[in-house]
Amino acid sequence: MRIRRIGWGLLAAAGFLAALGTQGAAGQDQLAEVYNLRYFTHANFTRIVVDIGSLREYASAETRNPGRIVVDILQARINPIVREEAIPDRCDYINMIRIVPKSDATVRVTADVDFARVKRYQVYALFDPFRIVIDIYPQERAPSAPAGKKPQPARDGYSMARQLALGIKAIVIDPGHGGTDPGCLDASGLLEKDLALDISLRLRELLRANTKFDVIMTRETDIFVPLENRTVVANQRKADLFLSVHINAFRDKRRQGIETFYLNFSADPRVNETAARENATTTKTIGEMDKIIRKIVQNSKIIESRDLAQKIQGNLVRTLGRQYPDVKDLGTKGGPFWTLIGCEMPSVLVEVSHISNPLEAQRLRSDVYRQQIARGIYEGLLAYVQSLGKG
Ligand SMILES: [Zn+2]
Repeated sequence: MRIRRIGWGLLAAAGFLAALGTQGAAGQDQLAEVYNLRYFTHANFTRIVVDIGSLREYASAETRNPGRIVVDILQARINPIVREEAIPDRCDYINMIRIVPKSDATVRVTADVDFARVKRYQVYALFDPFRIVIDIYPQERAPSAPAGKKPQPARDGYSMARQLALGIKAIVIDPGHGGTDPGCLDASGLLEKDLALDISLRLRELLRANTKFDVIMTRETDIFVPLENRTVVANQRKADLFLSVHINAFRDKRRQGIETFYLNFSADPRVNETAARENATTTKTIGEMDKIIRKIVQNSKIIESRDLAQKIQGNLVRTLGRQYPDVKDLGTKGGPFWTLIGCEMPSVLVEVSHISNPLEAQRLRSDVYRQQIARGIYEGLLAYVQSLGKG
């Protein structure tokens, strides 16, 4: 039996959701109720929808012999009105759909499929109300755009949203780490989580004072937020941009400078070293993530994310350079950053300096430096929005 984890979980931490003002957070000891299992066979795919109502962690896997797509929903039970089995008609690549209690607190949904006739499938979550969707595409049909999903990348790689120059309304600022996860640190007690939060709050102030953007923070205090949830917040709030703020660290203390990342796979060991450190709170390995990323980048906003990264990197280096002419520009790069996976909008991760470099660590202690970093990111965001043709 081959099991592959392809879903990313959602952890409903009540405190975290409350801090973000999200409604409907269930207590952790409370079971969500699966109240409906629906499916529709369209001309070129079948969609199975599991209605749950409250945010729940889930994991998907597949077996080949017999062919099964399995989704386990944690902290959930089945309402007795839900039918246990269904045999979809008009669909010769799915033999049966089943929903059963896997344990007292886990619900298992299984689709028995004929993988020889399945081209691909995807498992993802939708919100308001929370539901898990399994889309299965049959082999024999020509590939075409899945219905009811976000705009597909146009021929030149830019999304429809960009081509139509739709305005940017909501920006998510994601201060890296927090709570039990300090991020990187130095011997003097400087913590990445504190610096990232401080810079993020300064950035929020600049945006609030000078723009009409709706600014959403993934955290505004020193709390732990699972990496996966940060994207969920951005998607749930239908944000237009996602920006994660981090401080870098390297064993080589001479390394200094600023770099901005967007989601992609990378062959650069230094990029993967940074990504591995930033991904430390997930259980995924870089190898596992590489596979996931290869799947995801085809449909993600990769070109827009790269543009956003370039605007932020350029403006941040230029702004800091006025006061700190020796600032080092390490450029923009693709990298396998878990916190960017699943973002449905252009998203970047900025490493604003190195805590491991004595000069930059000393500067990071200064309010003026952190304010200039916030200012530089702010200028970069504005430059990106203006490049869309609207601001
Ligand atoms: Zn970090």
